[in-house]
Amino acid sequence: PLAGDDFSTPLFDPELVSYYLQHSGMVNLQTKRGCPYRCSYCSYPHLEGKHFRIRNPRMVVDELERLKQEHGVERVFFTDSVFNDPHGEYLKLVEEMLSRDLGMQWSAFFRPQGLGREELALMKRAGLYALELGTDAAADRTLLGLDKRLCFAEILEVNRACLEERLPAAHFVMFGGPDEDDASLTEGLQNIAQLDISVVFAFSGIRIHPGAPLHQRAIEEGIISAETSLLKPVYYFSPLLDRERMEQTIEESFAGHKNRIFPPSEGMIRMAVMRGFGFRGLMWDRLVRFPKIAQ
Ligand code: SF4
Repeated sequence: PLAGDDFSTPLFDPELVSYYLQHSGMVNLQTKRGCPYRCSYCSYPHLEGKHFRIRNPRMVVDELERLKQEHGVERVFFTDSVFNDPHGEYLKLVEEMLSRDLGMQWSAFFRPQGLGREELALMKRAGLYALELGTDAAADRTLLGLDKRLCFAEILEVNRACLEERLPAAHFVMFGGPDEDDASLTEGLQNIAQLDISVVFAFSGIRIHPGAPLHQRAIEEGIISAETSLLKPVYYFSPLLDRERMEQTIEESFAGHKNRIFPPSEGMIRMAVMRGFGFRGLMWDRLVRFPKIAQ
Protein backbone atom coordinates (compact mmCIF):
# COMPACT_ATOMS: atom_id res chain seq x y z
CA PRO A 1 0.00 0.00 0.00
CA LEU A 2 0.99 3.62 -0.53
CA ALA A 3 2.65 5.38 2.39
CA GLY A 4 0.81 8.42 3.75
CA ASP A 5 3.05 10.88 1.91
CA ASP A 6 2.53 9.13 -1.41
CA PHE A 7 -1.23 9.69 -1.65
CA SER A 8 -2.03 11.98 -4.53
CA THR A 9 -3.50 15.30 -3.72
CA PRO A 10 -7.27 15.40 -4.41
CA LEU A 11 -8.37 16.98 -7.67
CA PHE A 12 -11.12 19.13 -6.12
CA ASP A 13 -13.08 19.28 -9.35
CA PRO A 14 -15.04 22.57 -9.11
CA GLU A 15 -18.25 20.88 -10.21
CA LEU A 16 -17.97 18.20 -7.50
CA VAL A 17 -16.90 20.64 -4.80
CA SER A 18 -19.86 22.88 -5.51
CA TYR A 19 -22.18 19.83 -5.49
CA TYR A 20 -20.93 18.88 -2.02
CA LEU A 21 -21.22 22.44 -0.77
CA GLN A 22 -24.72 22.82 -2.09
CA HIS A 23 -25.96 19.52 -0.63
CA SER A 24 -24.00 19.16 2.59
CA GLY A 25 -22.29 22.50 3.18
CA MET A 26 -18.91 20.82 3.62
CA VAL A 27 -16.18 18.90 1.82
CA ASN A 28 -14.57 15.65 3.02
CA LEU A 29 -10.85 15.06 3.30
CA GLN A 30 -8.63 12.21 4.57
CA THR A 31 -5.59 12.96 6.71
CA LYS A 32 -4.67 9.29 7.03
CA ARG A 33 -5.78 5.85 5.87
CA GLY A 34 -6.04 2.49 7.63
CA CYS A 35 -7.04 1.48 11.15
CA PRO A 36 -5.11 -0.62 13.69
CA TYR A 37 -8.20 -1.47 15.76
CA ARG A 38 -10.16 -4.68 15.23
CA CYS A 39 -13.79 -3.80 15.97
CA SER A 40 -15.55 -6.98 14.98
CA TYR A 41 -18.12 -5.52 12.59
CA CYS A 42 -15.92 -3.05 10.76
CA SER A 43 -14.56 -3.27 7.23
CA TYR A 44 -12.17 -0.29 7.45
CA PRO A 45 -9.02 -2.34 8.28
CA HIS A 46 -9.94 -4.74 5.48
CA LEU A 47 -10.44 -1.91 2.98
CA GLU A 48 -7.66 0.49 4.00
CA GLY A 49 -5.14 -1.68 5.82
CA LYS A 50 -4.42 -2.53 9.44
CA HIS A 51 -2.06 0.36 10.21
CA PHE A 52 -2.44 4.11 10.11
CA ARG A 53 -0.76 5.64 7.09
CA ILE A 54 -0.56 9.26 8.09
CA ARG A 55 -0.21 12.10 5.61
CA ASN A 56 2.19 14.96 6.01
CA PRO A 57 0.32 17.66 8.01
CA ARG A 58 1.77 20.39 5.80
CA MET A 59 0.32 18.79 2.67
CA VAL A 60 -3.08 18.36 4.31
CA VAL A 61 -3.16 22.00 5.36
CA ASP A 62 -2.03 23.07 1.86
CA GLU A 63 -5.14 21.28 0.59
CA LEU A 64 -7.34 22.97 3.17
CA GLU A 65 -5.95 26.31 2.04
CA ARG A 66 -6.69 25.47 -1.59
CA LEU A 67 -10.23 24.46 -0.67
CA LYS A 68 -10.76 27.76 1.07
CA GLN A 69 -9.03 30.08 -1.38
CA GLU A 70 -10.04 28.45 -4.66
CA HIS A 71 -13.47 27.04 -3.77
CA GLY A 72 -14.68 29.13 -0.85
CA VAL A 73 -14.96 26.07 1.45
CA GLU A 74 -15.47 27.04 5.09
CA ARG A 75 -16.27 23.61 6.59
CA VAL A 76 -14.51 20.27 6.25
CA PHE A 77 -15.14 16.77 7.59
CA PHE A 78 -12.08 14.55 8.09
CA THR A 79 -13.14 11.06 7.07
CA ASP A 80 -10.21 9.20 8.68
CA SER A 81 -11.22 5.92 10.36
CA VAL A 82 -10.17 7.53 13.65
CA PHE A 83 -8.96 11.13 13.80
CA ASN A 84 -7.36 10.87 17.27
CA ASP A 85 -4.75 8.16 16.77
CA PRO A 86 -3.41 6.91 20.14
CA HIS A 87 0.13 8.19 19.50
CA GLY A 88 -1.11 11.73 19.11
CA GLU A 89 0.07 12.25 15.52
CA TYR A 90 -3.19 14.10 14.88
CA LEU A 91 -1.98 16.87 17.18
CA LYS A 92 0.76 17.74 14.67
CA LEU A 93 -1.91 18.41 12.09
CA VAL A 94 -3.87 20.47 14.60
CA GLU A 95 -0.74 22.52 15.38
CA GLU A 96 -0.18 23.07 11.66
CA MET A 97 -3.77 24.26 11.22
CA LEU A 98 -3.29 26.65 14.13
CA SER A 99 0.01 28.02 12.85
CA ARG A 100 -1.51 28.72 9.42
CA ASP A 101 -4.55 30.42 10.99
CA LEU A 102 -6.97 28.92 8.46
CA GLY A 103 -10.19 30.16 9.99
CA MET A 104 -12.00 27.00 8.80
CA GLN A 105 -14.37 24.85 10.81
CA TRP A 106 -14.00 21.10 10.87
CA SER A 107 -15.29 17.87 12.38
CA ALA A 108 -14.20 14.21 12.27
CA PHE A 109 -14.77 10.67 13.54
CA PHE A 110 -13.19 10.23 16.97
CA ARG A 111 -12.52 7.22 19.17
CA PRO A 112 -14.00 7.97 22.62
CA GLN A 113 -10.87 7.11 24.53
CA GLY A 114 -7.97 9.13 25.88
CA LEU A 115 -9.33 12.47 24.73
CA GLY A 116 -9.09 15.08 27.45
CA ARG A 117 -9.90 18.76 27.82
CA GLU A 118 -6.40 19.83 26.83
CA GLU A 119 -6.56 18.13 23.41
CA LEU A 120 -10.14 19.24 22.87
CA ALA A 121 -9.35 22.86 23.73
CA LEU A 122 -6.43 22.85 21.29
CA MET A 123 -8.59 21.39 18.51
CA LYS A 124 -11.36 23.85 19.25
CA ARG A 125 -8.90 26.71 18.80
CA ALA A 126 -7.98 25.14 15.44
CA GLY A 127 -11.62 25.12 14.29
CA LEU A 128 -13.12 21.87 15.65
CA TYR A 129 -16.83 22.54 16.16
CA ALA A 130 -18.33 19.07 16.86
CA LEU A 131 -17.26 15.45 17.35
CA GLU A 132 -18.74 12.25 15.93
CA LEU A 133 -17.81 9.53 18.42
CA GLY A 134 -17.50 5.86 17.47
CA THR A 135 -19.08 4.67 20.71
CA ASP A 136 -20.76 1.72 18.95
CA ALA A 137 -22.13 -0.05 22.06
CA ALA A 138 -23.43 1.20 25.38
CA ALA A 139 -22.53 -1.52 27.90
CA ASP A 140 -19.18 -3.08 28.76
CA ARG A 141 -20.50 -6.51 27.78
CA THR A 142 -21.44 -5.39 24.26
CA LEU A 143 -18.32 -3.23 23.86
CA LEU A 144 -16.38 -6.41 24.55
CA GLY A 145 -18.63 -8.33 22.14
CA LEU A 146 -17.58 -5.87 19.42
CA ASP A 147 -13.94 -6.05 20.49
CA LYS A 148 -13.91 -2.27 20.94
CA ARG A 149 -11.12 -2.40 23.55
CA LEU A 150 -12.63 0.38 25.60
CA CYS A 151 -15.13 0.53 28.42
CA PHE A 152 -18.11 2.77 29.03
CA ALA A 153 -16.37 4.68 31.83
CA GLU A 154 -13.84 5.92 29.24
CA ILE A 155 -16.66 6.99 26.91
CA LEU A 156 -18.28 8.91 29.75
CA GLU A 157 -15.00 10.63 30.53
CA VAL A 158 -14.59 11.82 26.92
CA ASN A 159 -18.23 12.92 26.83
CA ARG A 160 -17.73 14.94 30.00
CA ALA A 161 -14.61 16.61 28.58
CA CYS A 162 -16.54 17.56 25.40
CA LEU A 163 -19.31 19.14 27.44
CA GLU A 164 -16.84 21.00 29.63
CA GLU A 165 -15.20 22.40 26.48
CA ARG A 166 -18.67 23.18 25.10
CA LEU A 167 -18.12 21.02 22.05
CA PRO A 168 -21.22 19.21 20.72
CA ALA A 169 -20.71 15.43 20.59
CA ALA A 170 -22.76 12.69 18.94
CA HIS A 171 -22.52 9.01 19.88
CA PHE A 172 -23.41 6.30 17.37
CA VAL A 173 -24.63 3.18 19.16
CA MET A 174 -25.69 -0.17 17.69
CA PHE A 175 -28.01 -2.37 19.74
CA GLY A 176 -28.51 -6.07 19.09
CA GLY A 177 -24.84 -6.82 18.41
CA PRO A 178 -22.80 -9.77 19.69
CA ASP A 179 -23.66 -10.80 23.28
CA GLU A 180 -26.50 -8.26 23.60
CA ASP A 181 -29.16 -9.57 25.97
CA ASP A 182 -31.94 -8.03 28.06
CA ALA A 183 -29.52 -7.14 30.87
CA SER A 184 -27.04 -5.36 28.56
CA LEU A 185 -29.91 -3.52 26.87
CA THR A 186 -31.11 -2.20 30.24
CA GLU A 187 -27.57 -1.30 31.27
CA GLY A 188 -26.89 0.34 27.89
CA LEU A 189 -29.96 2.55 28.11
CA GLN A 190 -29.04 3.57 31.66
CA ASN A 191 -25.54 4.41 30.47
CA ILE A 192 -26.88 6.46 27.57
CA ALA A 193 -28.95 8.51 30.01
CA GLN A 194 -25.63 9.61 31.53
CA LEU A 195 -24.51 11.14 28.23
CA ASP A 196 -26.51 14.17 29.21
CA ILE A 197 -27.07 16.79 26.45
CA SER A 198 -24.97 14.97 23.84
CA VAL A 199 -26.75 13.47 20.84
CA VAL A 200 -27.20 9.69 20.53
CA PHE A 201 -28.06 7.98 17.26
CA ALA A 202 -29.14 4.39 17.95
CA PHE A 203 -29.37 1.56 15.46
CA SER A 204 -30.87 -1.91 15.61
CA GLY A 205 -28.67 -4.74 14.34
CA ILE A 206 -25.29 -4.56 12.65
CA ARG A 207 -24.60 -4.97 8.98
CA ILE A 208 -22.38 -7.96 8.24
CA HIS A 209 -19.44 -7.04 6.01
CA PRO A 210 -17.31 -9.65 4.26
CA GLY A 211 -13.87 -9.89 5.83
CA ALA A 212 -14.98 -8.51 9.21
CA PRO A 213 -14.72 -10.88 12.23
CA LEU A 214 -18.49 -10.59 12.73
CA HIS A 215 -18.98 -12.36 9.40
CA GLN A 216 -17.34 -15.52 10.77
CA ARG A 217 -19.27 -15.29 14.03
CA ALA A 218 -22.57 -14.96 12.17
CA ILE A 219 -21.73 -18.13 10.23
CA GLU A 220 -20.76 -20.00 13.41
CA GLU A 221 -23.99 -18.96 15.12
CA GLY A 222 -26.03 -20.10 12.12
CA ILE A 223 -27.35 -16.57 11.42
CA ILE A 224 -26.08 -16.86 7.84
CA SER A 225 -24.29 -19.55 5.89
CA ALA A 226 -20.84 -19.21 4.35
CA GLU A 227 -22.58 -18.93 0.97
CA THR A 228 -24.96 -16.11 1.93
CA SER A 229 -24.46 -13.17 -0.42
CA LEU A 230 -23.71 -9.94 1.44
CA LEU A 231 -24.08 -7.76 -1.61
CA LYS A 232 -27.45 -6.60 -0.35
CA PRO A 233 -27.38 -5.63 3.34
CA VAL A 234 -27.66 -8.55 5.79
CA TYR A 235 -27.76 -7.75 9.50
CA TYR A 236 -26.55 -9.48 12.64
CA PHE A 237 -29.02 -9.61 15.53
CA SER A 238 -28.06 -11.20 18.80
CA PRO A 239 -29.96 -14.46 19.26
CA LEU A 240 -30.10 -13.68 23.01
CA LEU A 241 -32.99 -11.20 22.85
CA ASP A 242 -36.18 -10.45 20.99
CA ARG A 243 -35.61 -7.81 18.31
CA GLU A 244 -39.07 -6.24 18.34
CA ARG A 245 -39.12 -5.94 22.11
CA MET A 246 -35.63 -4.44 22.03
CA GLU A 247 -36.64 -1.78 19.51
CA GLN A 248 -39.75 -0.91 21.47
CA THR A 249 -37.70 -0.58 24.66
CA ILE A 250 -35.24 1.79 22.94
CA GLU A 251 -38.07 3.90 21.54
CA GLU A 252 -39.71 4.16 24.96
CA SER A 253 -36.43 5.13 26.57
CA PHE A 254 -35.74 7.85 23.97
CA ALA A 255 -39.29 9.22 23.82
CA GLY A 256 -39.51 12.95 24.51
CA HIS A 257 -35.74 13.53 24.13
CA LYS A 258 -34.90 15.55 21.00
CA ASN A 259 -31.23 14.57 21.24
CA ARG A 260 -31.93 10.80 21.24
CA ILE A 261 -32.62 9.45 17.78
CA PHE A 262 -34.24 6.10 17.08
CA PRO A 263 -35.30 4.59 14.75
CA PRO A 264 -32.82 5.96 12.18
CA SER A 265 -35.72 6.92 9.89
CA GLU A 266 -36.63 9.49 12.56
CA GLY A 267 -33.23 11.13 12.07
CA MET A 268 -33.68 11.18 8.29
CA ILE A 269 -37.03 12.94 8.63
CA ARG A 270 -35.59 15.58 10.94
CA MET A 271 -32.58 16.15 8.66
CA ALA A 272 -34.86 16.56 5.65
CA VAL A 273 -36.91 19.16 7.52
CA MET A 274 -33.78 21.07 8.55
CA ARG A 275 -32.44 20.93 4.99
CA GLY A 276 -35.76 22.34 3.83
CA PHE A 277 -35.13 25.31 6.14
CA GLY A 278 -31.75 25.85 4.49
CA PHE A 279 -29.52 24.27 7.16
CA ARG A 280 -26.35 22.54 5.98
CA GLY A 281 -23.46 20.76 7.68
CA LEU A 282 -23.72 18.06 10.36
CA MET A 283 -27.01 19.51 11.58
CA TRP A 284 -27.24 17.23 14.63
CA ASP A 285 -24.92 19.69 16.43
CA ARG A 286 -27.85 22.11 16.57
CA LEU A 287 -29.66 19.71 18.90
CA VAL A 288 -27.06 20.26 21.63
CA ARG A 289 -28.04 23.07 23.96
CA PHE A 290 -25.33 24.14 26.36
CA PRO A 291 -26.42 25.86 29.56
CA LYS A 292 -25.92 29.62 29.55
CA ILE A 293 -22.72 30.81 31.21
CA ALA A 294 -23.48 32.93 34.28
CA GLN A 295 -22.20 36.52 33.81
S1 SF4 B 1 -14.92 0.90 14.03
FE1 SF4 B 1 -13.47 2.58 13.85
S2 SF4 B 1 -11.85 2.06 15.33
FE2 SF4 B 1 -12.99 0.19 14.95
S3 SF4 B 1 -11.89 -0.88 13.32
FE3 SF4 B 1 -13.49 0.37 12.37
S4 SF4 B 1 -12.54 2.29 11.85
FE4 SF4 B 1 -11.21 1.25 13.31
